[in-house]
Amino acid sequence: MSFAAIFIFGSLLGSFFNVCIRRLPAGKSVLVPASYCFKCRRAISPAHNIPVLSYLFLRGKCAFCGAPFSIQYPLVEFLTPVFYLGLYLRYGFGSEFFLYVVLSSFLIVIAFIDINRMLILDRLSYPLAALGLLVSGWRAAMHLRSGGELMQAVSYPLGFFAGAGVLLTLYVGWRWLRHEEGLGLGDVKLAAAIGPWLGVRMVLEALFLSFLLGSLWGVVLIAMRRKQLKDQLPFGAFIALAAYLRLLLGVECKLIF
Ligand SMILES: [Zn+2]
Repeated sequence: MSFAAIFIFGSLLGSFFNVCIRRLPAGKSVLVPASYCFKCRRAISPAHNIPVLSYLFLRGKCAFCGAPFSIQYPLVEFLTPVFYLGLYLRYGFGSEFFLYVVLSSFLIVIAFIDINRMLILDRLSYPLAALGLLVSGWRAAMHLRSGGELMQAVSYPLGFFAGAGVLLTLYVGWRWLRHEEGLGLGDVKLAAAIGPWLGVRMVLEALFLSFLLGSLWGVVLIAMRRKQLKDQLPFGAFIALAAYLRLLLGVECKLIF
């Protein structure tokens, strides 16, 4: 499998993820109608719908009416294949690669919806959790069949409770201390959903990394006077990014943690 094939496949999926990011929060179908300009409502022809390239060629505008399109479209079309390539370089072309491609696809859609709307949809985190639990059960069974230890085998299914437990503790603790919501319940559900994909150890490391990244970003925004301390961050996007980074940097991270 060549880099080019992964890139083309990834950018086409990224194009579809853009549709999901835009339409899922509004409760609209992601399949029909085909992409159209939000201003002049004309359908975007296949020639004008080539990932990244069409945006550059048309300078980010509708070919008919010139309405500007968000930079987020080419960004998602570019980031998706880059994320897939990272997984390919880390895991090679096997079952883990495919599993993590599914996971990171969910994470991309969830992260961008969270950035746009400060919202993590149950319609995404529930299926992600269900799939993760199925996969973790299969992994545990495989591990036991090959004579592995029980504790290691159950690490993946238990990741669900580890992820949920940490964020639920923070969620409840914050409400108790400050009488306000620091995190959303959506963040708790997302942490639970990625748990069985990563296993206990990795999900804890990923959540720790997400707190680091989120705090750093908050400090940067406050330093730039773009935000007040009480303003909310799309924390789900940081959980998603941290989970992906943890998958990618497995070996290196073991030196840190
Ligand atoms: Zn238009």
